[in-house]
Amino acid sequence: MSHRSLPKSASEAADADSDADADVDATSARDDGRADPRSPAAVRLENVTHEYGADGGFRSSGGRSVTALRDVSLSIRPGEIVGLEGPSGSGKSTILHAVTGLLVPTDGTVEVMETDLTSLSERERTRMRRRHVGIVFQRFHLLPSLSARANVALPLVQVGVPKATRRERAEELLEGVGLADRASHLPGELSGGERQRVAIARALATDPDVIVADEPTGELDTATGRNVLELLTDVGRERDRAVLVASHDDDTLAVADRVISLRDGQVVTDGG
Ligand code: ADP
Repeated sequence: MSHRSLPKSASEAADADSDADADVDATSARDDGRADPRSPAAVRLENVTHEYGADGGFRSSGGRSVTALRDVSLSIRPGEIVGLEGPSGSGKSTILHAVTGLLVPTDGTVEVMETDLTSLSERERTRMRRRHVGIVFQRFHLLPSLSARANVALPLVQVGVPKATRRERAEELLEGVGLADRASHLPGELSGGERQRVAIARALATDPDVIVADEPTGELDTATGRNVLELLTDVGRERDRAVLVASHDDDTLAVADRVISLRDGQVVTDGG
């Protein structure tokens, strides 16, 4: 499958609104888009422990806190496709949320492009996520009242890209995922596989360094799921992105360069 990636000028355009947080974006430049085994990690978790309820917030099961991750360390290089495997409740989503900065673990550090998210303010973490991390969900999470084009353009609104540029970029991205002729369709007018392609195009909108995907084929039939996986691995390798995919599914794990297995919040194998 071939597709075009977002030209680098998208992130340059996104940087046009840089302000006091510009220092956080110092790592966003990429020179030639090629994999380099000596590159620093795109994602690094060190000794991450997370206890839900430890902060006095939401507690499950009768007020007890739940230790979702215990001393998890892992790292992912640019261009690497890494599968995250484990039974339900083993901590996969908690790791993905930590990488997006949506969750700050109780202990340990989470680095994305060598910036420790746990040391940032909430605003800076949001900014890191918008610039550096693309997210693909199992149930697509497209806005039903917006066209495919407008869904793909949404992350560009958040980083201040002008309207005409957004439209152009969104159309290029849709063309890249093979949906040029679906740009004006609403999500409800698309098949499951097409919706996930739109979601992948949206995840690529800001030309992120890292893509996290939570059961991206969970809602798709086997053949459609394989196509979506092929697309995800293409977009990772082509632009030297780190891709972290949580899944139960053997097909998904088979496309990964490396599989990390979790049990009860701990890494039990890394590289099997
Ligand atoms: P997975 O993605 O592998 O299914 P999760 O990361 O969602 O695992 O969950 C890990 C553990 O944390 C489970 O025991 C789960 O019940 C618990 N957990 C997840 N989210 C919350 C939450 N918001 N509050 C309390 N416990 C949670």
